[in-house]
Amino acid sequence: MTAPTKPPHTSPAGPASGPPSGEHLHAPVIDWFDENARDLPWRRPEAGAWGVMVSEFMLQQTPVNRVLPVYEQWLARWPRPADLAKEAPGEAVRAWGRLGYPRRALRLHGAAVAITERHGGDVPADHARLLALPGIGEYTAAAVASFAYGQRHPVLDTNVRRVFARAVTGVQYPPNATTAAERKLARALLPEDEPTAARWAAASMELGALVCTAKSESCHRCPIAAQCAWRLAGKPEHDG
Ligand code: SF4
Repeated sequence: MTAPTKPPHTSPAGPASGPPSGEHLHAPVIDWFDENARDLPWRRPEAGAWGVMVSEFMLQQTPVNRVLPVYEQWLARWPRPADLAKEAPGEAVRAWGRLGYPRRALRLHGAAVAITERHGGDVPADHARLLALPGIGEYTAAAVASFAYGQRHPVLDTNVRRVFARAVTGVQYPPNATTAAERKLARALLPEDEPTAARWAAASMELGALVCTAKSESCHRCPIAAQCAWRLAGKPEHDG
């Protein structure tokens, strides 16, 4: 007799059955994202890779609501990397306004110059070429390759790291800085096919931003509450 299988959305995965695997998390998180994703300008098709890159620079240390007006003005003034590259770096800093950490404006300007000189003005799609641009680190290269070009890369920001720490590792918070173990886990959790992997990257990030937040996780509206290792363990307090 074959044991009945339960659909992934509802299958409980308590401590006895080990942490949930990616295949049990992908569908519920992506379905939730389809219903609940915020309509942000850098997620629209017309944003293009340059829009995604600009948003990633701005969002690194600044919340969405403060980024939105500056992002819109920036893209209206400099719709392509070459438009920004033509300006003096000081103009980029002035347009950065009150986003804070204005060195990011200089780095974005430097990236625009390199894109114009090395890549004919088009943001490269290749992860290694993105990473070779000035001012672009591992996170931003993966985010642009994934969000703009639909590629398969682990995209580990603080929101994603928190969701993985709780749902899979079973702890309240991730370590202060990204560890090799987190990168390994993120790679293991990536869906195999590229479009699903790119969707998963955006969806897990949005889940951390809207539901599994740092201060008040809303497990009652979480699509993976039934599988979440930290919740099933009784939410042990962070001891770090
Ligand atoms: S069940 Fe709660 S703690 Fe677990 S991932 Fe969802 S919101 Fe976060």
